[in-house]
Amino acid sequence: MTSDYSEPSNGDDNPIIVLFRQDLRISDNRALSAAAHTGRPVVPVFALEHARLAGRSLGGSRRWWLHRSLDALSGKLAALGSPLVLLSGDLEASLERLVAQTGANTVLWNRRYDPPGAAADAKLKTVLRNKSIRLHSFEGQLLHEPTLLTTGTGNPFRVYSPFWRALLRNDEPREPLSAPDHLRPPENAVKGETLESFQLNPVRPDWSAGLRESWQPGEDHALKRLETFLENDLENYISERDLPSRPSTSLLSPHLAHGEITPFQVWHATRTAFKSGCTADAEKFRKEIAWREFSYHLLFHNPKLDSANFNRAFDRFPWADDARRLEIWQRGRTGYPLVDAGMRQLWQTGWMHNRVRMVCASFLVKHLMIDWRHGERWFWDTLVDADPASNAASWQWVAGCGADAAPYFRVFNPILQGEKFDPDGTYIRHFVPELGQLSNKYVHRPWEATETELRAAGVKLGTNYPKPVVEHQPARNRALEAYQAMRGAA
Ligand SMILES: Cc1cc2nc3c(=O)[nH]c(=O)nc-3n(C[C@H](O)[C@H](O)[C@H](O)COP(=O)(O)OP(=O)(O)OC[C@H]3O[C@@H](n4cnc5c(N)ncnc54)[C@H](O)[C@@H]3O)c2cc1C
Repeated sequence: MTSDYSEPSNGDDNPIIVLFRQDLRISDNRALSAAAHTGRPVVPVFALEHARLAGRSLGGSRRWWLHRSLDALSGKLAALGSPLVLLSGDLEASLERLVAQTGANTVLWNRRYDPPGAAADAKLKTVLRNKSIRLHSFEGQLLHEPTLLTTGTGNPFRVYSPFWRALLRNDEPREPLSAPDHLRPPENAVKGETLESFQLNPVRPDWSAGLRESWQPGEDHALKRLETFLENDLENYISERDLPSRPSTSLLSPHLAHGEITPFQVWHATRTAFKSGCTADAEKFRKEIAWREFSYHLLFHNPKLDSANFNRAFDRFPWADDARRLEIWQRGRTGYPLVDAGMRQLWQTGWMHNRVRMVCASFLVKHLMIDWRHGERWFWDTLVDADPASNAASWQWVAGCGADAAPYFRVFNPILQGEKFDPDGTYIRHFVPELGQLSNKYVHRPWEATETELRAAGVKLGTNYPKPVVEHQPARNRALEAYQAMRGAA
């Protein structure tokens, strides 16, 4: 398959502009392949305006990633023959200038599904069409367009399991496309901005050392990551994916978020795993990919997913306005070792293990009773995989106000979660080194250790490691009472 894009049969040889956004790759890129296929000159473009996502400024971690991802993409496009042109300033005006400069008469892009992005694209379409520019957009970020799967009554899904079944009933996702082997450059080289001028890297302070140690952005690394995961880790996915100290999940989320790899590539690559007998693990992994799809389905049909409770009854919830406790949580100083390890993993590496994300998010909204939107914003700013759909949907899921949400009364116990999923405290010791010398028995509950044990481990509660910011049981009771009161007020 190449594309469903058909060229006018008038021998047109004008350049085609390909706009890159959350699709920073050359393989399985339908807009790029369609342009290359015409044999006409291709001008690949990334506009600084697209460093905004879902109508919001990108967080610091995603900006750091974007710099490297653009750098990698730039190198790949240059090797194919037509370097990436970076534009800044007003997009419509700079595109108009580019059209005038190159004689381009066609613009292609892969679609975005976040509502502000889709609305901006619709507006751009109208503007360009009025200037007699041909336009075509392609699917590419999701296995299925968000409008394709519907319930039996033709409505959007609100529950994941039937969504998953509908996804399976639908046609097998298309085969991924290979990268074009050549791009014809425009006759006159186009001069754009420099990547440095985008100022995506943190300076004063440069806090990115942990990110540099943890990640290698770019399409080649994304494909390699997938290969390594399928070869080494998929067979233990079900048994180990909840253990934060094990390298047992794919770590593909930032690559998917930047479109360095597509869900089609991931989906089809797992086929060999099905053949080699890892059926249950491969299916579980595909189900996680489908959670990403489901999140986009929810966002597409609920544009305010990141700001409004899906369940409007939660508009009455008495959230605590507590900036001090919010900061304690953000800095990983709650006194609950698993929560603190997770929040510090996030701060240091720009990523957090899924199980720990659930525990940390639950702690904020239930133990501290702080509005989930504060947590969503913190994750947005700090995650390298911050995603308008998955972040908002997951926060609402944990808070109990989302579609198909975890029931509010399910309050994760951060101590038991630690003992179950990090039994020997390896994860905690790594990110909370102050507790490194405590025995397995107390590493999840240091406040229960005797003075002698604490002294032997070099822990001074309230000095070099905090006492718990709230007590688990009373905090849980307080949250459940507030929930009951909210329901009673209906
Ligand atoms: C409070 C909270 C906030 C979250 N915010 C984000 C976010 O901003 N961006 C993001 O990509 N994920 C988010 N997640 C989902 C999940 O934690 C990450 O996708 C996962 O940890 C990424 O690691 P991985 O690539 O190794 O996952 P794997 O287990 O290898 O899963 C493969 C892929 O499936 C998708 N996926 C897995 N779990 C989920 C899920 N629960 N929801 C949606 N997609 C999923 C991701 O694209 C992931 O890369 C959030 C979860 C919680 C609880």
